[in-house]
Amino acid sequence: MDFDLNERQAELVRAAEEVAERKLIPMLDAADTPEGVNGLRRTMAEQGLLGLNLPEELGGMGVPLLDTLLVTRALQKAAPLLGGIAHRSSTGAVGAVAEYGTQAQKEAFVIPSCKGEIGISIGITEPDAGSAATAMKTSAKVEGDEVVLNGSKQFVSFVNNNHYTLVYCRFGTTGRPGDIGAVIVPHDAPGFSHSEGTLNMADELLFELYFDECRVPKENVLVDGGAFGKLISVYNAERLGSISRMIGSAEAAYEMALGYAKERKQFNRELADFQGIQWMLADMRVKLDAAALLTWRAAATAVKTGLPSPTETSIAKVFTAKAAKEVCDDAIQIMGANGYTKEYPLVHRYAEVRGGSIYGGTMQIHKNMIAGAILERSSSQWKRS
Ligand SMILES: Cc1cc2nc3c(=O)[nH]c(=O)nc-3n(C[C@H](O)[C@H](O)[C@H](O)COP(=O)(O)OP(=O)(O)OC[C@H]3O[C@@H](n4cnc5c(N)ncnc54)[C@H](O)[C@@H]3O)c2cc1C
Repeated sequence: MDFDLNERQAELVRAAEEVAERKLIPMLDAADTPEGVNGLRRTMAEQGLLGLNLPEELGGMGVPLLDTLLVTRALQKAAPLLGGIAHRSSTGAVGAVAEYGTQAQKEAFVIPSCKGEIGISIGITEPDAGSAATAMKTSAKVEGDEVVLNGSKQFVSFVNNNHYTLVYCRFGTTGRPGDIGAVIVPHDAPGFSHSEGTLNMADELLFELYFDECRVPKENVLVDGGAFGKLISVYNAERLGSISRMIGSAEAAYEMALGYAKERKQFNRELADFQGIQWMLADMRVKLDAAALLTWRAAATAVKTGLPSPTETSIAKVFTAKAAKEVCDDAIQIMGANGYTKEYPLVHRYAEVRGGSIYGGTMQIHKNMIAGAILERSSSQWKRS
């Protein structure tokens, strides 16, 4: 067991930080439109920052999941939008296409995603199927050369900036998880529409998606049922990507507060001279290191098993989601009223990591899964009728 970054990892992170500083951060002002995001995505692709863990023959960089997460954390620390784009193009929905897609699907979706030409959202949540995701009702029926979708999704991220959504849907009518498969739906498909979006606490838009006899070529069916478990196995890599983003944001908040504590004087002394502040900084460092180690463990295990262990992923998620909130909260406290204003990015960093306790399976759902593994029982929460 070696806890130091190897040469390749250190170089990847250093290069990502350098490109972010020199090329990408100057592009952020123009990235509040889909065109601006497309430009940023293409530049990130040119710089080798997309599709990090995806195979080289599909346009990816072919690096291990752990290296991908290290780069995601570094880019997120530089700016949340950079972390988000890097995450979605490597550990996001595109990962399911790379894992389960046909060769034609890989060529149509994975290669363009690695080139920064397209982005893919993920649509799982529905009005009556949040934590109980397998209660989803959106249906898919193959008719000739097409698949026809009916239903709706909600709280889907980044739809305005992406070109496709990987939609989890029901191919059968048994009402059981075994019906669930997934279709790659283009945002210009007939019968597809989405809401204008609702702003969340971190000022990001979350969208409702509507499928009204939505017709998509049959070749866009990724898996046609019996696949919920398979989809969630890949989704654990997506979870690790978003956990790395939380660590990146919390690291950024910590570093800002640390710098401030060494500059700001009260009672004729630096804030960093007060033991009350020193203990906060120590607690923050302990939480950041522990969160990273749990996350890197889940990623390192994936090298042996192909995909991340569900329990290790849940443990990393439960610890990090809480730790990241606490670190950002302490950073605000150390910076006093300045930290609480939107002049500084801490409020936004807090708002962003706050979502991590909810998306990708809530904290409570992940604790149910950990308890199920400890007790060797099913973690199913369904009331038996
Ligand atoms: C920032 C953000 C981005 C998101 N992006 C996407 C996206 O791109 N695509 C997508 O499909 N979805 C997305 N979501 C939706 C997210 O996946 C759901 O919000 C999540 O699954 C929880 O569902 P819900 O909000 O309906 O809460 P509910 O399921 O209604 O839960 C409400 C509360 O009850 C608790 N609870 C529920 N069941 C149990 C139980 N069995 N035991 C203990 N407690 C329980 C929950 O933990 C929670 O605290 C996003 C959400 C957020 C906040």
